[in-house]
Amino acid sequence: MAKSLTIRKGDKVKVIAGKDKGKESRVLKVHPEKSRVVVEKVNVIKKAQRPTQRNPKGGLLEIEGTIHVSNLMLLCPSCSQPTRVGRRRTDDGTRVRVCKKCGNDIDK
Ligand SMILES: [Zn+2]
Repeated sequence: MAKSLTIRKGDKVKVIAGKDKGKESRVLKVHPEKSRVVVEKVNVIKKAQRPTQRNPKGGLLEIEGTIHVSNLMLLCPSCSQPTRVGRRRTDDGTRVRVCKKCGNDIDK
């Protein structure tokens, strides 16, 4: 069963482990079934590219690899702190994410 992630596309996150530790960036893609996400400029893999007509010299293509969500913390849009995420149910029954540091809603 796929667990829903507390990190979503477009979130700002801080890398807390691995070779890009300390970087702050934006989530580009999420793979909830694997608990992995793609973060802009994080875990960049260089791929050799064959020469093509458009790019006759070939070269190195830089693409972002996935990173496990346990290596990331969400950056709260309200207090700008890396934080754990809580959840609460609003009056109309939707679930929103809540910053455990400042208590503000992360989802507007
Ligand atoms: Zn906060």
